[in-house]
Amino acid sequence: MDYDLFVIGAGSGGVRASRMSAQNGARVGIAESTFLGGTCVNVGCVPKKLFVYGAHFSEEFEDAAGFGWTVGERQFDWAVLRDNKTKEIERLNGVYQNLLVNAGVVIHRGVATLDDANTIEINGQKITARNILIATGSSPHVPDFPGKEHVLVSTDAFYLPAFPQHAVVVGGGYIAVEFAGIFRGLGAETHLLYRGDLFLRGFDDGVRIFVREELERKGIHLYFNTEVASITAEGQRKIIKLRNGEVLPTDLILQATGRRPNTQGLGLERAGVKLGSNGEVLVDDYFQTSVPNIYAIGDVIDRFQLTPVAIGEGMCVAHNLFGSGARHSLNYSDIPTAVFCQPNIGTVGLTEAQAVAEGPVSVFEARFRAMKHMLSGRGERTFMKLIVRRADDRVVGAHMVGPEAGEIIQGLAVAIKAGATKAQFDATVGIHPTAAEEFVTMREATRQVG
Ligand code: NDP
Repeated sequence: MDYDLFVIGAGSGGVRASRMSAQNGARVGIAESTFLGGTCVNVGCVPKKLFVYGAHFSEEFEDAAGFGWTVGERQFDWAVLRDNKTKEIERLNGVYQNLLVNAGVVIHRGVATLDDANTIEINGQKITARNILIATGSSPHVPDFPGKEHVLVSTDAFYLPAFPQHAVVVGGGYIAVEFAGIFRGLGAETHLLYRGDLFLRGFDDGVRIFVREELERKGIHLYFNTEVASITAEGQRKIIKLRNGEVLPTDLILQATGRRPNTQGLGLERAGVKLGSNGEVLVDDYFQTSVPNIYAIGDVIDRFQLTPVAIGEGMCVAHNLFGSGARHSLNYSDIPTAVFCQPNIGTVGLTEAQAVAEGPVSVFEARFRAMKHMLSGRGERTFMKLIVRRADDRVVGAHMVGPEAGEIIQGLAVAIKAGATKAQFDATVGIHPTAAEEFVTMREATRQVG
C-alpha cells in the first residue's frame, strides 16, 4: 500500500486528521480539488468573520460621536475589503500547506475518486491506502424553483464583483442572518425572507425573538411565512415573485437554505460505502463507514456542520487508527456555538423548551443596553439567559445575544460542560464593569417552568 491513510478533502477536519496521523508515524496522503483549508478558511467562517468586522464599522463611526469624536466623510469601498480578505485567505492557504508538509503529509492536487475500498484515483494515477478518510465537506443547497439560476450562494458572496445597493437573503439559519447583517452593515438595503413563523429554528425561543427585534432595529426588513415562487431577471435587476403574489425587485439574491454533504461522484458506491437519505455518509460512533477501513468526518456525515466538531471528529479517527489506548468517540452534548449576526448570538446547552421537556427548570433572564450605549445613544440591547434544572441546580443552558456573545459563551461552556450549578455561578465573582458579569449576578428567577 502507498499510504497508511489517504484523506479526501483538506478542510479543517481532513487536515487535522492527516497531521495527527502523520505525527503518530503513519504514512499519509491528502487530496484537495480546490483550496487548502476547505470551506471554513476559504468561503466560510474566516472570510465571513472578516466581513462582519467590516460591517461593524458603520455603527462604530456613528457611536464615536457620543464620545467626542468627529468622524469625517465615510465611504465604503467593497473592492478593498474583498481583496484584502482574499489576500489573507491566500496567506492562510500557505499556512495550511506548510502545516501539512511539515507534518510529512503528501498533498495531491485534484479530484479524488474511489475505485474500491483501498484504491483512489486522482489525475489518472492510482493510489492505494490501508485506510481512507472521507472529509469532503458540504456545499450550499438551492431547492428547485423557476429562476433558481439567478440566485447566488454564500460561496459567491465572498467574491462579488460589485457590492449591491439592495440585497435579498433567503433562509433563516446561520448563513442567512449572518449575511443579512453583513449586507446591512456595509450599506445595502437588506431584506430577509424566511419560510416559517420565526427564523433560527433550533435556537432558544427567547433568543429568536430578541434577534428578530434587534435585526429590525438595525433596519433589516424581515419577512416571515414567505416563500419565493419564481425569479426573473430584467437587465441587472432580479425580480422575485413571492408565493403571496408580492413582487420584490433587487440587485442580488443570496440563497442560504442549508448545505448538503459532498458525496456525489466520489465513487463511494463502488467502494460499498452506505449513504443516508440526505446523501450523508453513514458512520458509527467511531466514524467508521459500512466499509471497515473507510472513515468519514465533518459536514459530509451531516451531524453538526461546525469546524471545531469536524476537527474533534478528525482527531478521534487519527487517535483510533494510529494512537494508543482506548478508542475515542466525540461527545456531542453541550457544543457551544455562535452566530455572527449583529449583535452576535452565543449559546451552549439546552434551550428552554428542551430543558422543560426533561423536567422543571428555573429561568433567569436579563435584558439591558450595554454600557457603551449610554454615551453612544444606540438603542441596541443585550439579552442573557440561564436555564437551571431544579432537580439538581445544574445550569443546563446559557444563551446570549449581544456584542462578543461568542467570546463570552466559550468560557461559560467550560463551566456547563463541567456540570456547574447555579450556586457555583452565584459564588463566582463578577468582572466589573462588563456585560459578562450579568451571568453571575442574576439572582432572582424570571420564571419557574414545569
Ligand atoms: P441552516 O441549516 O442553518 O439553515 C437553513 C435555513 O434554510 C433554515 O432556516 C431552513 O428553514 C431554510 N430552508 C431549508 N430548505 C429550504 C427551502 N427549500 N426553502 C426555503 N427555506 C429553506 O443552513 P445554512 O445554510 O444557514 O448554514 C449551513 C450550516 O453551516 C449551519 O447549519 C451551520 O451548521 C454551519 N454554519 C455555521 C456558522 C457558525 O458557526 N457561525 C456560520 C455559517 C454556517 P427551516 O428552519 O424551516 O428548515
